Amino acid sequence: MNDLDHDQLKSLTRQRTRLVWQTAQLGGSLSDEDARLVQAMREHSEYADLWDHLDELSDEQIERDGTNPVAHVTIHATIEAQIADGEPKETGETVEALMRQGLSRHEAIHRVGIVLTEEIFHILKDKRPFDKAGFVRQIKQLAESGAPRTATHFGKAPRPRRRAKGKFR
Ligand SMILES: [Zn+2]
Repeated sequence: MNDLDHDQLKSLTRQRTRLVWQTAQLGGSLSDEDARLVQAMREHSEYADLWDHLDELSDEQIERDGTNPVAHVTIHATIEAQIADGEPKETGETVEALMRQGLSRHEAIHRVGIVLTEEIFHILKDKRPFDKAGFVRQIKQLAESGAPRTATHFGKAPRPRRRAKGKFR
């Protein structure tokens, strides 16, 4: 990831996210990618007070229950893009399979989002490309193992998984 350090990247992301949000509020036109981000922001009313002030707030003021809302909606938007583009096609298939097992669409996206969050963590930490085959294998397991009923969330500051097998199954 080029020469930007983590804090610079974070503040740019927050500023950009706020601008995309405000552009949408003013009825401005957005790219497909930004429109998906705004859609995800609208689907999280619990964060509604944040979006206009993202780049004025501290990390502590932004975080909710250990979740970073910006990371959370970004993961939502990424998964929506995978579904819209059919790339990988297993993302949409998995969301549909989980919905057939009784999850809401939002919650089904959370299940896939947990896997994607871990994958992104490894891309950044190990400086390796997206492991599509590994990602597809893991999300297929989500659907095959049956969806647990408890709600999940993602978007925490990513940490390596500590033998937490079964937690999200
Ligand atoms: Zn969500």
